[in-house]
Amino acid sequence: MSEHRYLVALGSNQRSSRYGAPRAVIAAAVDGIGELGTVEAISPLIETPPVGPSSRRYVNGALLLASDHAPRELLAGLQEVEARLGRERRGQRWRSRTIDLDIILWNGGSVSDVALQIPHPLFRERDFVLGPAVSVAPNWRDPVTALTVKQLYARLTRNRPAYR
Ligand code: AMP
Repeated sequence: MSEHRYLVALGSNQRSSRYGAPRAVIAAAVDGIGELGTVEAISPLIETPPVGPSSRRYVNGALLLASDHAPRELLAGLQEVEARLGRERRGQRWRSRTIDLDIILWNGGSVSDVALQIPHPLFRERDFVLGPAVSVAPNWRDPVTALTVKQLYARLTRNRPAYR
């Protein structure tokens, strides 16, 4: 049995010339993450309007991963998947924001160093993370607030429509 379990957030807002639309980029990322452990559950993917001036829509999802990799090793593995999917020759430029993979929660508790914070510091304010997370890990408890993912999502969306 794998030693560690993780809640991982997935996001893409750009087409890839190799993989196609953001949904296809995310599917390719899930395949890559599958090489780092066992993907136990994948949320439905959602589309959210972008934050800020960009006109691109984001596609987001979340998955549960069982893995033998410790947190820093997993981060390195996810960054390798990001690099593999994100880099395309476009003239002289490498584009790099095709895919964003974040570790949200870890069953071992908290990590806090310069390169890695778990729980992810912004996940409680992001409905595009919590919405998908509810469908794969509703009862997972945030070690900082002691609230479940479902409770955090309810708290965030109580006074407004989802995905805004
Ligand atoms: P971003 O550009 O938003 O994807 O941020 C990437 C950077 O965030 C990386 O250099 C990571 O070292 C750092 N980071 C800190 N905590 C996390 C986390 N929980 N998951 C993924 N990246 C993280």
